[in-house]
Amino acid sequence: MSPAPLVMRIMASSIAIGNQAGKIIRDIMSAGELGIVDKGSDDLQTEADRSAQRCILASLSNQFPNVRIIGEEGTSDLVNVPSDWIVTDLDQEFLKNKCPDSLTNINEQDLVIWVDPLDGTSEYTQGILESVTVLIGLSVQNKAVGGIIHQPYYKRSSDEFGRTIWGLKGLGSSGYETKPHVQGELIATTTRSHSNELVQSALRAIEPTKVIRVGGAGYKVLQLLEGDAHAYVFASGGCKKWDTCAPEAVLEADGGMLTDILGNHYQYGNDVAFPNKMGVIATAKNVEHMSIINKIPDDVKEKLSK
Ligand code: AMP
Ligand code: MG
Ligand code: MG
Repeated sequence: MSPAPLVMRIMASSIAIGNQAGKIIRDIMSAGELGIVDKGSDDLQTEADRSAQRCILASLSNQFPNVRIIGEEGTSDLVNVPSDWIVTDLDQEFLKNKCPDSLTNINEQDLVIWVDPLDGTSEYTQGILESVTVLIGLSVQNKAVGGIIHQPYYKRSSDEFGRTIWGLKGLGSSGYETKPHVQGELIATTTRSHSNELVQSALRAIEPTKVIRVGGAGYKVLQLLEGDAHAYVFASGGCKKWDTCAPEAVLEADGGMLTDILGNHYQYGNDVAFPNKMGVIATAKNVEHMSIINKIPDDVKEKLSK
């Protein structure tokens, strides 16, 4: 049998890697030595971010040596990675799916893998662990097309933790259940630790019936996928491409949408700038995306574009 198409193998590998990265994140928390460094203002990195990135980058580059991989934590030491961190299996359940026709013949040069080894670091250091996710996003010809969101602290049973959600455009998404929205509600989810006046101004303008403040771009998109919120509203340039590539792909594979505050999709090619300068608006399926975009005040749009 011929091997599965490259895009399918990267997805199947990412699903397997997410579990190992999640285990590393839990093990470091249990050991209690977080090794916190501040990379800027309000931009923390821990030993879990560094180690999970080494696991993910070493595993992906081992299997896909010619694919460009960009990780949040920059260049990592991939030479001395413990051998049990290098994941070589592919998720066989995923490989039972048929590759969407448009993705069967994609060249390595057309791909970029965006890695956020630990999204929600600020919450991780404070023990708010459900917000923590591992994000591996796949862009094809500049567009966010596939990805996984692994949630290391999702409780599967009394002593089993972790779940992996995946999505691939043209195929669909898997790993969660969606509750129906309540008529008349508009629940907005937004940052817990990176708010400012513009973020607040945009939130007020969409007139939500409720605002939830939680950490992590991955976790907020999970809330949209599960029906716990209608819109993720963040009028700030603080999120980066690794924060949104996987969440955008999974959400859009599910029928939702993730764009900047003008309604434009971000580009995820090799040479793009990392910051999502024009903010993030994401909506669950069955929510009219443009109805949220249209409520964002012009002065917020202008201030963010400066
Ligand atoms: P939050 O919703 O605050 O958890 O942010 C989602 C993602 O974007 C996390 O990875 C944050 O670290 C990142 N982020 C958002 N705003 C900022 C900021 N002002 N500075 C640094 N990182 C940010
Ligand atoms: Mg992040
Ligand atoms: Mg991170």
